[in-house]
Amino acid sequence: MSSDAQKAMASSVYDKFSGEELMLMIHRENPAKRADAASMSEADLVAVVKGYSTVYLRGMATASDYASLSKDELVARVNSFRKLRDDTWPKPGNADPFYDLIVEDSLAKNEYPKAKMDAARAAEHTSLAAKCCTQEVWDKYKDQVSTGAAKWTLARAVNSGTMYPHSFVGCHAGDQESWDDFKDFFYPVIEAYHVGFSMETGQGTGPDGKPLPPLAGTAQDRMDPAKIGVDLSESAKEKIVSTRIRIARNLTGFALNPGGDGASRDKIAALLKKVYAGIEDPKLKGEMFRHDTMSNEQRQALIDGHQMFRGCDKMQAASGYHVDWPIGRGVFHNPDKSFVNWINEGDHIRIIAMGMGSDVKGIFSTLSAGTGAVSEGLKKNGPVGEEGGKYFGMEPFQMHPKFGAITCCPSNLGTGMRGSVHIKIPKLIKAWGFKKIDSECRKRMCQARGSSGEHSEVVDRVGISNWRRIGIPEYMLLQDMINCVNWIVTEEDKLGGGK
Ligand code: ADP
Ligand code: MG
Repeated sequence: MSSDAQKAMASSVYDKFSGEELMLMIHRENPAKRADAASMSEADLVAVVKGYSTVYLRGMATASDYASLSKDELVARVNSFRKLRDDTWPKPGNADPFYDLIVEDSLAKNEYPKAKMDAARAAEHTSLAAKCCTQEVWDKYKDQVSTGAAKWTLARAVNSGTMYPHSFVGCHAGDQESWDDFKDFFYPVIEAYHVGFSMETGQGTGPDGKPLPPLAGTAQDRMDPAKIGVDLSESAKEKIVSTRIRIARNLTGFALNPGGDGASRDKIAALLKKVYAGIEDPKLKGEMFRHDTMSNEQRQALIDGHQMFRGCDKMQAASGYHVDWPIGRGVFHNPDKSFVNWINEGDHIRIIAMGMGSDVKGIFSTLSAGTGAVSEGLKKNGPVGEEGGKYFGMEPFQMHPKFGAITCCPSNLGTGMRGSVHIKIPKLIKAWGFKKIDSECRKRMCQARGSSGEHSEVVDRVGISNWRRIGIPEYMLLQDMINCVNWIVTEEDKLGGGK
């Protein structure tokens, strides 16, 4: 086959299936029912290779990468991907650890995973799940289900931390009620993560070590750029590649995603579609795209631009984030992608403002306006609106009286806000390595992440962001981030030796 003909064939395959369909073909490709690769048509081989690469290469390959392969090479590619898939399978059957919810053996029997918990607690690093889910706490709650929509259990709550003990947090809520229903477990987790916050008083601690007053006003009021009292240094501005600030929110009237399913995610996506269609502000308005109908080019551009989530994360899968993937998942963005929303990743919605450069204040102001627009839209269209029955008139976003916004992961509770810059600090990366950069940031209430977000490698840039999120007004969290970045840049500059 000529390369042109192959190219045409390859693109016709990509046109025929959406990326998500390809992904599903692979995920649900039952090992017992697989056709022998050598007997498949070239078009099917290309489709299967493309599907696997969407999963294992995180969609980084394009149609043209396969267009010039011979049939033998395609067969070899399919077989090697299948082997990779089988090697990463935990047990026989169809469960895919990267997407399916696999419950750890003892937890599946509702038994305390004592040996694993003891080992985790004895290790140098202990997840907050292992630290706080003691035998005593387990015995107290093991037969309890949450009073909310998810009928959540402690076994489900600690699954990701039990399966992956190296996680930092390792526990999740399935509905907003879970946080209080299992409070002897969750409250200590919350206080351990959000250093300085007290669940008893509902107050955080300021930079001077003194308690802050309870948060006043709405998130909107506190997202006021004029209140940010510090600036990035000139050297920091030079090194910053891009800035992104996001808040996590969940919609009143639904279970949180770890406790939801395809149907609940689908309803949320349909509601948000209406909300986005109603945004009128020309700076914010845009379009929503669903994962299952997006074109491959569009998906690739969004991934490359850091505007999209990918799924395919074992820890998230163990929390239930990926249940019924890709149903109901999507992304909204305005044309210049300065205002982006993730739909049904972990939380129902991630409201994101981002841009190249270091304009923290400008981006904060977009975030504030965008949050307002989404919130207004939900009041008109959501369960909290006129048709909302028992939810009528409630806050459109789930809120807790003590700590603020409700999210499914303890790390995001409160403001739900993570403000980050991607910064180039090559000398420190070499001299200190990522671990030390992160631990130094933690001393300053910030954290470091890799070049493509959480659980990613450091390639050329490091993400620095605020770490805690409760009990401190949003603008102060950005001050934490700015102070930490200014400090780290001074350390980078001290190393000298040119750029
Ligand atoms: P979140 O806390 O929102 O889940 P992740 O660490 O999972 O964040 O990252 C989500 C995406 O956002 C990734 O693609 C990451 O590279 C991107 N991202 C994070 N911070 C920045 C930034 N300052 N500039 C550009 N992209 C960013
Ligand atoms: Mg994330």
